[in-house]
Amino acid sequence: MTTPDLETLVCQTRFSDDDLRRLLSLSDENDCNLLYRKAFEQTSKWHGNALFWRGLIEISNICTYDCRYCGLRKSNHRLHRYALSVDEIVDAATCALEAGYGSVVLQGGERTDPKFIGFVSEAVAAIHEKSRRMGFKRGCGITLSFGEQSIETYQRWKDAAGNPDAVRYLLRLETTNPILFRHIHGNGPRKKILAERFLALHDLRTAGYQVGTGVMIGIPGQTVDDLVKDIRTFERMDIDMIGMGPYLVSRQADMVAEGMMPEEPLLRLSRNMIAVTRLVLPKCNIAAATALETLHKSGRALGVLSGCNVMMPNIGPTRVRGDYSLYDRKAVTESEANANVALEKSILQLTGRTVAKNRLGSSLLFRERHRLLPD
Ligand code: SAH
Ligand code: SF4
Repeated sequence: MTTPDLETLVCQTRFSDDDLRRLLSLSDENDCNLLYRKAFEQTSKWHGNALFWRGLIEISNICTYDCRYCGLRKSNHRLHRYALSVDEIVDAATCALEAGYGSVVLQGGERTDPKFIGFVSEAVAAIHEKSRRMGFKRGCGITLSFGEQSIETYQRWKDAAGNPDAVRYLLRLETTNPILFRHIHGNGPRKKILAERFLALHDLRTAGYQVGTGVMIGIPGQTVDDLVKDIRTFERMDIDMIGMGPYLVSRQADMVAEGMMPEEPLLRLSRNMIAVTRLVLPKCNIAAATALETLHKSGRALGVLSGCNVMMPNIGPTRVRGDYSLYDRKAVTESEANANVALEKSILQLTGRTVAKNRLGSSLLFRERHRLLPD
């Protein structure tokens, strides 16, 4: 069998593993641009020209786990720890809704104690009520990202979120390679287990969430074959949304000696991964990760140009931004007054994409599965 030329390959709707390997490995600038253009075109075809925007609130950096790659890990005693109050969270959510983003994301370190579980329930319920008072008849969209929890906790948080059609959870697999997963999560008492992560994703589906996952790209020791398997896993699990970004080293974590990929090839690989995922899963929501912004000053715009259809600007209080240091040189995004307006403008200028105002932004896959109209 002859191998198709690149122009033909990117127009396919089905891809073999060899095709995916070839696309992920592209390095020539013209070839990469062809791939990105096709991914952007597919995004326009399925999702239109308006991006879903969600206000991101990093509610706490207190974590009881010890992932080796992450600056928030429990063993990092140099970090100043914080937790926002319910009022601060609701105020931030209100800013997002006033800006016309119909949806918020609450993220934080992983805790499973009853106090934390109750706190998240309270915050989520308060956001729901506030959004109803602000005119969202069934409540705004809410995405949670607090790691692995019991199915009872997932259920409780979903009930608190009020609008069962617009509640989502983001739990990255980080990598689907079991050996690499074990390596980056260490062997201590607070280690993570890949099988449990899969189970948690399954529980999230059972509890009725729109399920989001993703991986880090360019982890030391990760291969292109691993990335192919990651994409196949997203496909097999019928994942609704994907958050993927480059792996960036944190001096306050435990993988410094392993280094990281040089920035230019890392940015390219990240964009290739986003674009290839878009070609394989055209109906999925794909978010432009903040981590792209550490590699390039317009990193999220480059994400949009490679197939992302979701933006998650940070709208939490600026005083805590520096402390949510997952990795070194984490871009402190949206820190000035009117920063979101400036961001919307620059995204429009660089990509031509607009904001889907007051839309909850459920993924097309989820809407089709549940026969829902656009929200
Ligand atoms: N505690 C939750 C959510 C916060 S961490 C959880 O673990 O799911 C959110 C994400 O940050 C993680 O899923 C991981 O993919 C990403 N992250 C952590 N450290 C990182 C690093 N060094 N480089 C890039 N992404 C990182
Ligand atoms: Fe905690 Fe999440 Fe960081 Fe792991 S990745 S240490 S669970 S914040």
